[in-house]
Amino acid sequence: MTDYELIRSKRRSLELRVLEDGRVQVRAPQRAPLRMVQAFVDSRRGWISEQQQRQASRPRQRWQDGATFFFRGNPLVLDVSSGRTWVTVAGRYLQVRVPEPDSEASVQQAVENWLRRQARPVFEDSIDRQFPWFASQGHARPALRVKKMRTRWGSLSARGYINLNMALLQYPPAALDYVVMHELCHLQHMDHGPGFHALMDARMPDWRQRKAMLDQPLFQP
Ligand SMILES: [Zn+2]
Repeated sequence: MTDYELIRSKRRSLELRVLEDGRVQVRAPQRAPLRMVQAFVDSRRGWISEQQQRQASRPRQRWQDGATFFFRGNPLVLDVSSGRTWVTVAGRYLQVRVPEPDSEASVQQAVENWLRRQARPVFEDSIDRQFPWFASQGHARPALRVKKMRTRWGSLSARGYINLNMALLQYPPAALDYVVMHELCHLQHMDHGPGFHALMDARMPDWRQRKAMLDQPLFQP
């Protein structure tokens, strides 16, 4: 029998989730009988174990001394020690000082805060380098918002914001520039139709190779 966590809420249907750590959650309507929930879980057993295997084989970022952390496409070694919170790159090391060095959550928090601070000037620079042509077409420069996103690298809002995933800073600069160019091209074409791709080809002929860099799973923060 599969172990699962049952979460009841105001909803009409059953929903199954396999979390990153392999745990199974079932969301169910308030009054759904337990045996119905159980039958639902049993009927999806094959799918559940498939998802669990997929999760287990996914490379996962560890937040401890000696772990690898990618920064701008280069692997750095986490050098974690105890002290007042401080993060800096030193050669091939990312030195991380935190009050609780044995807590992966606190190391993660310190590194992500640092990554977010590093991201802004680097992302602004990429926009500045690639924006002039779009300015010449009469577009206003979108304002940058650095975000932690699980499923997207970037987006362009109709309200004039370019949202970029801070995890882009872990990939090679060429991949970051690709995402920025992609979003800037949405100033001209809102969809991903032929016009959009023609513009990408014109502005960044090697964009497909750059995009492929993002398909390699790094250890996502
Ligand atoms: Zn797009």
